[in-house]
Parts: sequence; C-alpha cells; structure tokens
Amino acid sequence: MQSKEFRFHSMVEEEYIPVLISGAAVQLTFGLRNYLMDDFDVIHVMRKEYVLNIDKETYYGHVSKNGIHTSWNRFLEGYSDYTDSVNVGLHEMAHALQVDAYLGMEDHHDRTFKERLQEFSEEGKPVFRAMHKGMSHLLDDYAMTNFDEFWAVSVETFFENPQEFKEKLPALYEEMRQLLSQDPLEPGRVLNTTPG
Ligand SMILES: [Zn+2]
Repeated sequence: MQSKEFRFHSMVEEEYIPVLISGAAVQLTFGLRNYLMDDFDVIHVMRKEYVLNIDKETYYGHVSKNGIHTSWNRFLEGYSDYTDSVNVGLHEMAHALQVDAYLGMEDHHDRTFKERLQEFSEEGKPVFRAMHKGMSHLLDDYAMTNFDEFWAVSVETFFENPQEFKEKLPALYEEMRQLLSQDPLEPGRVLNTTPG
C-alpha cells in the first residue's frame, strides 16, 4: 500500500479502500518472495464499471501501462460472494502479477517464478483448447477469451472454488499451487520457502 499511489475517480477517497485493494494483492502474492509488482506505480479506483474509449466496452477493471484499474462497486461484489469464482480484485492483480513478472525490476533476477509461470502455461493450454471444444465448465467462459484471461480466471477460481478446482483439474490445480506457493485449502501456509 505504501509503494503505490492510489487515485480515485468520480468518488471520495476513503482510508479503508487502499487497505482492501492491497489486501487482494497480498492474498495473491502471499507465497511469493517478490510481491511489490513494481512495474506499476498507480492503482486507479473508479466508483463503478466504466467504458474505455479504445473499444467502447464496459470494464470492471483492467491493467495497462498507466496502472492497475478497478471499479470499487465490482471489487466489493467480488468479495461479498466468495463462492462464485468471480472476484475482480484477484482478477486484475493476476494480470498485474503476470505483466510484472516480465517487465518489473525486482523480477529481473526471479527466474523461478517465470519458469513456474511457463509450467502453468504448458499445463493450462490443453485445458484452454478443451474449453474451446466445449469441455470443462469449472472455469468461467470468459477464460476462453485468450490465454491471459484464462490465467486471471484460473486465479479467481483457485481462491474461490479450490475444492472443485482440485477435483476437476488436479494437474492444473497443482501448477497453481506451486506457482503461487500457497494452497487455499491450507490457508496461511507458504509452500516453498526456498528463495525465488
Ligand atoms: Zn482480465
């Protein structure tokens, strides 16, 4: 929270908002040695979902070179139902973490995380292709948009529906577990304590 600037759009700044948004980032990176996502300086908070000029689409959040963006109403909704595998906070932090793994300063030396991200891709691509053939309805259909969305939706499902994820896609669940070095079915425990 101290390492980012929070900018509020069409809404009043409240002290607890950066705390909760940082909480989503900490939740995702709890098991990681490098967690600041220093490729991003600014977190933008919008009062509600918004339309981007670029494609005239409505967004609940997005990540760009200008920072991490989330709508506040949708962020709260994500945590108010913690069983539906929809969580925009975790979703956008997942995008940010992936971008940062390749562009962020502190990750230049962090090969292990990037290697694990690669292993996630190898395990995930067949599932992604199978979804396009109509298989697996564990992950939300939005995961089919492209492989970046597949990753972000996998993160939402990993945290909000770990039991079913583990049962239906055990190999992918294990990759997520190793990648993030934590297991939502065993909360509070960091799995890999070795550097990286
Ligand atoms: Zn996304």
